[in-house]
Amino acid sequence: NEKHLLVSRKLKPEDTIVSFGNGAQIGTTEKIFVFGPCSVESYDQVEAIAKELAAKGQKFMRGGAFKPRTSPYDFQGLGEEGLKILKEMNKKYGLNIVSEIVHPDHFEMADQYVDVFQIGARNMQNFELLKEAGKSNKPILLKRGLSATIEEFIYAAEYIHSNGNSQIILCERGIRTYEKATRNTLDISAVPILKQGTHLPVLVDVTHSTGRKDIMLPVAKAALAVGADGVMAEVHPDPAVALSDAGQQMDLVEFDAFFHEIDKARQLY
Ligand code: PEP
Ligand code: MN
Repeated sequence: NEKHLLVSRKLKPEDTIVSFGNGAQIGTTEKIFVFGPCSVESYDQVEAIAKELAAKGQKFMRGGAFKPRTSPYDFQGLGEEGLKILKEMNKKYGLNIVSEIVHPDHFEMADQYVDVFQIGARNMQNFELLKEAGKSNKPILLKRGLSATIEEFIYAAEYIHSNGNSQIILCERGIRTYEKATRNTLDISAVPILKQGTHLPVLVDVTHSTGRKDIMLPVAKAALAVGADGVMAEVHPDPAVALSDAGQQMDLVEFDAFFHEIDKARQLY
């Protein structure tokens, strides 16, 4: 019964606020953004984005070093080398680093580089990974599984909380349906359902849900309007040559226009 869960709002009516050393917070009335490339590819590629984010007053940056790719022949990520590059951006630009961890043994190694451990959609029910995330003392950004129900998503968060870590950020990133017009179907109603049912902050990933740069802005606005605590999106200095998700990452010009509008929308909610 969900009402007995640690993540349930019935048990804890107040919103959980996840706080960071640089003063950033997720889950307050101030909406936040997590932007950055799909994959960490090189120092220069990451820095081109980090510089832009810092100039825009951003407090977070994402970037994948361990990439859970559909094909084993596709770029698998730079691993620890990639995390080291991200850490440089934290030192140089004060950005909190969000990066995915795919193996329970990696938390200890990654702890020195990363500020938020992301658990990706494909690992939402990797229970050993969730248990280790629960033993970490860093915030966890948990993405909804590709075909996970909201209830399964909540139980996945409960795995983390029940193992000792209450700093959990949920992320709706679209689910698999028959619809092919978008990469996944963004379950926008999941946002208010998760906000009502749990006390955890909720983000919406507009890149992996839509897979379409042409509708990212209205979808991001919708996410804020229904109560999301923030938005995640991918940006790359040269998407055409990106080693993953080349088709859906914004370039810096597109990002500038997107940011201008979503930052304005942010003030409304
Ligand atoms: C990502 O955010 O880098 C990613 C792989 O997304 P998802 O796990 O939602 O597919
Ligand atoms: Mn991606």
